[in-house]
Amino acid sequence: MQSSKKILKDIFGFSEFRGLQEAIVNEVVLGGDALVLMPTGAGKSLCYQIPCLVRAGGGIVVSPLIALMQDQVDTLTQLGVKAAFLNSSMDADQAQQTIQQLLAGKLSLMYVAPERLLSPSFLGVLERLYAQSQIALFAIDEAHCVSQWGHDFRPEYRQLTQLHERFPSVPRIALTATADAATRVEIIERLSLESAKEFVSSFDRVNIKYKIVLKDGAKNQLEEFLKSEHPNDAGIVYCLSRKSVETTAEWLKGRGWDALPYHAGLTAETRNKNQRRFLREEGVIMVATVAFGMGIDKPNVRFVAHLDLPKSMEGYYQETGRAGRDGLAADAWMAYSLGDVVNLRQMVNAGDAPEDRKRVELQKLNALLGFCESTGCRHQTILRYFGEEHPGGCANCDNCLEPVEAWDATLEAQKALSCVYRTGQMFGVAHLIDVLMGKLTPRISKFNHDKLKTYGVGAQLDVSQWSSIYRQLVAGGYLDADIKMYGGLKLAEKARAVLKGEEQVWLRRDIGQAKKDMPKPHAFKKTSPKFTDPGEEALWNALKEMRRKLALEQGVPPYVIFHDSTLQEILKTEPTSLDDFKDVAGVGKVKLERYADYFIEVIQEHLGS
Ligand code: ADP
Repeated sequence: MQSSKKILKDIFGFSEFRGLQEAIVNEVVLGGDALVLMPTGAGKSLCYQIPCLVRAGGGIVVSPLIALMQDQVDTLTQLGVKAAFLNSSMDADQAQQTIQQLLAGKLSLMYVAPERLLSPSFLGVLERLYAQSQIALFAIDEAHCVSQWGHDFRPEYRQLTQLHERFPSVPRIALTATADAATRVEIIERLSLESAKEFVSSFDRVNIKYKIVLKDGAKNQLEEFLKSEHPNDAGIVYCLSRKSVETTAEWLKGRGWDALPYHAGLTAETRNKNQRRFLREEGVIMVATVAFGMGIDKPNVRFVAHLDLPKSMEGYYQETGRAGRDGLAADAWMAYSLGDVVNLRQMVNAGDAPEDRKRVELQKLNALLGFCESTGCRHQTILRYFGEEHPGGCANCDNCLEPVEAWDATLEAQKALSCVYRTGQMFGVAHLIDVLMGKLTPRISKFNHDKLKTYGVGAQLDVSQWSSIYRQLVAGGYLDADIKMYGGLKLAEKARAVLKGEEQVWLRRDIGQAKKDMPKPHAFKKTSPKFTDPGEEALWNALKEMRRKLALEQGVPPYVIFHDSTLQEILKTEPTSLDDFKDVAGVGKVKLERYADYFIEVIQEHLGS
């Protein structure tokens, strides 16, 4: 039996396990069950892949997504591991051949869709393997799919308890990146994992820099962000509606960006084509609704931008989590407005979910809005939401890098709240601001609002300042947006103490006003290194070109040949012998044999030039 550590180095090219990986691998290798909760990018795959290679027989990996299986199998094949998948995309002959390989003991890993796994014929195959002790393990990937409250619910996942009943001596490992306690309990219950050892790692995505801005010409703001941070990088831009996906993708394309649309209204063919380009090529921007994402395993998504507010903190965490799986620096950037909140609230209320469900959804939305408006460390606020402690001061979010000042806004808050009260708690922000600023609009005349005590009492501030105050009063729970009144604002319970002068209100100065003493930004490696030397840049481009060529020849995405982090190490260390090359992280034996010569040649050419 080969040791796990040796496999880690020889096959995967890594010298050390990360975090909890080693403990998990040991548990499963010895036949124990494991429940693994780790954030995206933490390295869950190795936790079951290595035990499959150590234990006798082949490992069966249940995975809900066809695209993901293909990617994993491509990656493993590149490493010299015998892996295959079985799903509805193959014809009967191909499926039969794959099963024969499994039965003949020629596969170390087999990825299977849950419905296929549970079919009588496949269960029969498993019975035969089980009789010969040739099932290494069952890995249940994306285990949160058992949860009917989650957005990825897959009813077939609930029948996976059969695995335990039929094949009791085979270890099971369930993995997910969904952090909340309720889902964890449901996974244990639904998959009968009561005796499994739990491995929960921190959910902090340290390499993601969070930044949230107020919408002010969102498309232009997005382009500014792209130009300054990601001129050549791959990323995802999320929009709420299909229409805004289309218009944003068109607009970016018109401005010279390589942008593609993705939403459920496009034909399957177009969706597949666009997804393929995003995965296989470098620097493609996918403009998408949330229909795009789960199972997008691309490690070098350098940014996720939101042009509309997601529906909850869970959604935000999951969507932004698609950035930076490779551990290199990545950005989560969002532009939002109060209008987004009103839209989302209307969508929730217009839906046909039961009232208590709607209430939960509205609470989740409020939590997200509070997060946007908060002046605290973003990493800390996100983790607190998921029940994890974080000391704050991450030096990798807007609030830590450019702290916003808070100011005593008690008087202004009283004016704003009082204006809501005196106008009858039925008007939206725009009208309230008109009243405060003493404008004479037809609406103000119609309702005689120029006769109110609050009319004109806010003339010292401008529209954007009052908008900010109202937004923060909503976020702080002083005002509720009444959805039935099309976003009309109502006083919430908390407003009473403010109006009576019993509570002070501190608000953030509007986003964008930075303080002087900023902490130094966190020094994460950039994906495209900043070059001081033109020669180095030329070598980087030549290495990338070689990777692209090799990927094209084999019909796989470039990152399957080498991840960006590996390519960066090659750039830095300039290995010119096989001996040096094998020390680069991410270079195992098979990749050394296959590719080292090509890259060494590029380096030698560079050194000679
Ligand atoms: P997850 O499934 O948790 O999102 P992956 O299994 O895709 O994460 O791994 C994320 C990245 O981390 C991959 O690029 C993988 O090669 C890399 N990785 C995993 N384990 C290690 C390790 N021990 N050392 C270095 N890199 C690792």
